[in-house]
Amino acid sequence: MRTIYMLGNWKMNQSLSDINSFSEELAVAWTNMPKIAQCGIAPQAMHLSLLREKLPTDLMVGAQTCSEHLSGAFTGELSPEALSELNMSFTLVGHSERRHLYGETDGQINAKIKTALTKNLRVIFCIGEQLEEREAGNTESVLKTQITNGLKDIKPSTHIVIAYEPVWAIGTGKTATPEMAQETHAYVRSVLKEIGFDADSTSILYGGSVKPDNVEGLLKCKDIDGGLVGGASLKAKDFLALCYAANNA
Ligand code: PEP
Repeated sequence: MRTIYMLGNWKMNQSLSDINSFSEELAVAWTNMPKIAQCGIAPQAMHLSLLREKLPTDLMVGAQTCSEHLSGAFTGELSPEALSELNMSFTLVGHSERRHLYGETDGQINAKIKTALTKNLRVIFCIGEQLEEREAGNTESVLKTQITNGLKDIKPSTHIVIAYEPVWAIGTGKTATPEMAQETHAYVRSVLKEIGFDADSTSILYGGSVKPDNVEGLLKCKDIDGGLVGGASLKAKDFLALCYAANNA
């Protein structure tokens, strides 16, 4: 049995008034939510504590990225130690926007995962190919490189969750078909096995334009253990629908 997750990545969105109305609308429906899946939200860094205060305690709050260092002269960075002190449950690492807009390398991602694990944060390790890489038939080699470099010298850990997010599907409205996603998830699982991870118990989430109307088809696939969702996690109604689907998967 693998843990099913439904995680929202709010990116650089949601004003204070959006957060207030989201929390109020969510609180009303949350009490009736079956609590099987692990659901959570990654807001902008300055809203982490506010969300922890406003959201039900069984809804996780986590960061969108973190530093590979615990403290020191790293202006603008987010310490895994501080995240842990604030009772954050997880951090994303290696999101494609961090890799492609801010030049995060596999080496840095590997260091961030190692540091986050020392503070007991669950790491949502994001991987995914770009459109040109898929079209050139390189999806598997790209993912294998990201996984082997990202998890280099890291012992298998139940705190590591993989999020497979094809870059061409993020924020574009183009979702991989369930068949396409399943095939790639099965491949990711085979690579985890190859590097000595307990692949059968590692959750692998899908991300890329997941919405209430396509989530069920994706969650039915045997190697898809939940979702990492951007746009559709911003509205309480849609996020609740996604959490219901995860709890019923
Ligand atoms: C994401 O931000 O990780 C993501 C998958 O975004 P979206 O759901 O909007 O494609």
